[in-house]
Amino acid sequence: MIERFAEIIGENELDSIYKIAEKLKGMSVLHVNSTPAGGGVAEILSKLVPLMRELGINTDWKVIRGDTEFFKVTKSFHNSLQNGIGELPQGAFETYKKWQEINGNELDLDYDIIFIHDPQPAGLINFKRKGKWIWRCHIDISNPYEPVWNFLREYIQKYESVIVSSAVFARDDLKNPQYIIPPSIDPLSIKNRDIPDITVKRILYKFDLDPERPIITQISRFDRAKDPLGVIRAYKLVKKHSDVQLAYVGSPASDDPEGEEVYKETVQAAGNDKDIKLLVLPPNSDLEVNAFQRGATVVMQKSIKEGFGLTVSEALWKKKAVIGGNTGGIPLQIIHGINGYLVNTPEEAAHYALYLIRQKSIREKLGEAGREHVRRNFLITRELRDYLMVAALSLG
Ligand code: UDP
Repeated sequence: MIERFAEIIGENELDSIYKIAEKLKGMSVLHVNSTPAGGGVAEILSKLVPLMRELGINTDWKVIRGDTEFFKVTKSFHNSLQNGIGELPQGAFETYKKWQEINGNELDLDYDIIFIHDPQPAGLINFKRKGKWIWRCHIDISNPYEPVWNFLREYIQKYESVIVSSAVFARDDLKNPQYIIPPSIDPLSIKNRDIPDITVKRILYKFDLDPERPIITQISRFDRAKDPLGVIRAYKLVKKHSDVQLAYVGSPASDDPEGEEVYKETVQAAGNDKDIKLLVLPPNSDLEVNAFQRGATVVMQKSIKEGFGLTVSEALWKKKAVIGGNTGGIPLQIIHGINGYLVNTPEEAAHYALYLIRQKSIREKLGEAGREHVRRNFLITRELRDYLMVAALSLG
């Protein structure tokens, strides 16, 4: 399987992966996160874990459990770490501790190397019996709400090292070694591999979209950080000048209890415009996501806060012109004017969307640059190599 990447990344790159993996052969590695599907972390783990196994590393993936209250708390942590505002449920810290204890007692955590993903399971470190523990943070922690950060920092300081997605998220109040590893996409997955135009069209027809008219697409959970209302506003501004359609595709994630509420807000903002499709697909609708991204005239990721935004690389890989919020990990992927545009407001997003809808040759030029940027920087093989490297370093 891993051999199939050779034609995309070259033999040398593949050799370097085998060489590092050699050092970890026979070791046991565990990844822990908070949802088996929905969102970027589950997306990456579903690709990374099989590759690590293929390299002879005994790799497992475990998902912590919790009740609605716990996931409300962890979502409030997630929001407060990213937007600096503290709106926590009553007794949040106690709820968090209680579920760390339940999971810590239930899960077998005896591995040589453990990657704990994001804040939700970070407290499991108190149940460490052996091995090297690494905290992998996928979100923007550059301007956190201090009480939540200080609470989590007590746990995070106990880790061997910390991984963040971008240099702008590195923290000078942590003494642990910090590594910068941007996330990545799997170019061979159903979500990202080439598919025939006819498949794209059939899927668009199925969801009542007209492939002959321009389409703006955003693929995102219904989360305020993804700015669905800003996307609707941008679309409405473009609509004044173009016969455009909007496809906003968002599937739920079990660790995000706010989805339903944000979906309702978005439906309300959309009004009764028949050219706005707000689609809630089941998790793992990968072929559909692939088709929506390929079928788009312009892909938007108008996030207000974003750890990385896999959807940006997914679209760039498909040679799409992408308009992204100028925040967090998005500027790693979009080089303004070269492979897309970075925006701060719905008005700016509308401006560039209309420009791109009218300028096919510019879209194509940006798209070519986008694919190459992703090929060099944001493919799963690069992230795999980086993880292996951190694992090998932590073993000393
Ligand atoms: N995704 C999906 N269906 C949806 C919405 C999102 O498959 O309806 C996928 C998307 O293609 C990407 C991941 O979920 O692979 C979202 O990752 P991202 O980093 O963009 O955002 P996160 O949800 O982790 O904040």
